Amino acid sequence: MSIDMRESYDLVVVGGGPAGTTIASFVAMQGHSVLLLEKADFPRYQIGESLLPSTINGICVMLGVDEEIANAGFTKKLGGSFRWGKNPDPWSFYFGVMTPNRKNPAFAYQVERMKFDSILIRNAKKKGVDVRTGYSVTRTIIENDRIAGVEFVDQEGAAGKVRAHFVADASGNESGLSKAVGERIYSKFFRNFALFGYYENAKRLPAPHEGNILSAAFHDGWFWYIPISPTITSVGAVFHASPDRKVPDLSTAMDGFIKGCPIIADFLSGAKRITEGPYGRLRVRRDWSYANTKFWDKGLILLGDAACFVDPLLSQGVHLATYSALLAARSINSCLADDVDEQRAFEEFEWRYRREYGRFYEYLTFLYDMNRDEQSYFWAARSLLNTEERGNEAFVRLLAGQAAADPALNVAQDFFDARQGAGAVLHDIMNPPADGNRSKSKFDVEGFLPELDRESLQLQMLASFGPDRPTEMPMRDGGLITSADGMHWSDPALANAA
Ligand SMILES: Cc1cc2nc3c(=O)[nH]c(=O)nc-3n(C[C@H](O)[C@H](O)[C@H](O)COP(=O)(O)OP(=O)(O)OC[C@H]3O[C@@H](n4cnc5c(N)ncnc54)[C@H](O)[C@@H]3O)c2cc1C
Repeated sequence: MSIDMRESYDLVVVGGGPAGTTIASFVAMQGHSVLLLEKADFPRYQIGESLLPSTINGICVMLGVDEEIANAGFTKKLGGSFRWGKNPDPWSFYFGVMTPNRKNPAFAYQVERMKFDSILIRNAKKKGVDVRTGYSVTRTIIENDRIAGVEFVDQEGAAGKVRAHFVADASGNESGLSKAVGERIYSKFFRNFALFGYYENAKRLPAPHEGNILSAAFHDGWFWYIPISPTITSVGAVFHASPDRKVPDLSTAMDGFIKGCPIIADFLSGAKRITEGPYGRLRVRRDWSYANTKFWDKGLILLGDAACFVDPLLSQGVHLATYSALLAARSINSCLADDVDEQRAFEEFEWRYRREYGRFYEYLTFLYDMNRDEQSYFWAARSLLNTEERGNEAFVRLLAGQAAADPALNVAQDFFDARQGAGAVLHDIMNPPADGNRSKSKFDVEGFLPELDRESLQLQMLASFGPDRPTEMPMRDGGLITSADGMHWSDPALANAA
């Protein structure tokens, strides 16, 4: 045990990225004791700069960091642009189509992860989490067939151990703990490399798309082009990793890829690659597409990249990290409050997280088929979400990280603003006044009607936050529903009886 560290915590979190800081904060906010061990000194570099509305308009609001993030100077991202599929011209989508009646349409940010992750880790500290940077977790402690804590090496190189009721592994794609829960299975479909760097004074898309991510296909794969600040652009080439592919030195390879993609070559024509500081080198990543056979076992739960990751094309990594953290926080908070049996609580976490991951996985395999145009990509999203939404709304909802009918991801701001929950809104929609002149709700679920499956029905039942609400639908037989405070699970049978 390190100096002034407790012997035991309700929760020990391994890793201080978006997944780790989110679960740590959500559990500490319920008054539980939480220790977060992060091996790096912050700020530390990380890739994953293009975020989704589910994270910015949902999770960050619940974490109470939305204002700080709004004032951090990040690039506002109103949607995305593609040079993709059969259409030779770029096309764009706009998150705002999901929120036609809102004063502030749905949006996200392009972020410098060093800054974004630092905001989240500082916030965890403010929420009462015992945050230790420079602490590297080496292994789990097993007692009575249960993970009961972790061993670590601290900043001075001294070994220590700490006990925990629950351990959350949020240590990212290099997780050494995930083996304790199951086997990591790599995708046979997504076997790509990424080569990426940073450029100064690169061009911007014309307004209003200047803050968008641009994803541009070319002969060898595709490029991301992300304006992370007024002057810095993150540029990465994703290409297939055939075993006989000869990659020259990184700089020559990058220049060759850029030459092969006319739109990126044009956008970078007056730009210079940054060669100093944290953005000063070209980096390579590979083998990023995998899922663990199990996401939890007694005492240990895997979050974010420690559990699974698909592919960067839809920028869903931080969404999956923070959403899995919210789901896991509900499970842990429920168990610590003795509300729900552990098996049931963690099955709910794994089922929902796997479904969200699975949706992105399935949709990405479709999107990688270049012999289609955007209309067929929109149709595929409608079919995947089992919805009759018009136009590109299903596509946008999926890409916004808001396919799951989870009030926290969809309406967090309205909930916190109004403190009345969605019950009133649902009532308004279901019972329009006789003159047909019903007041427009602050957030409009009408666009999602009529719906076909349970989850779609639940979108109509966003009332889970309201005091006099009808209850949320369980997602499956025997499933749990979100509690009224959004931070626990409830048994639907008991919630209905209440
Ligand atoms: C090429 C590429 C491009 C991407 N682009 C995007 C994008 O545009 N948008 C997006 O949302 N996502 C993107 N991603 C995904 C994104 O990087 C991750 O999904 C996201 O960072 C996962 O968050 P996390 O909290 O699970 O893990 P991380 O952010 O990896 O955080 C894990 C933390 O755990 C710490 N740690 C590791 N081991 C230990 C240990 N033993 N003890 C203590 N601490 C430890 C690490 O230092 C790190 O700080 C991309 C991924 C790739 C590969």
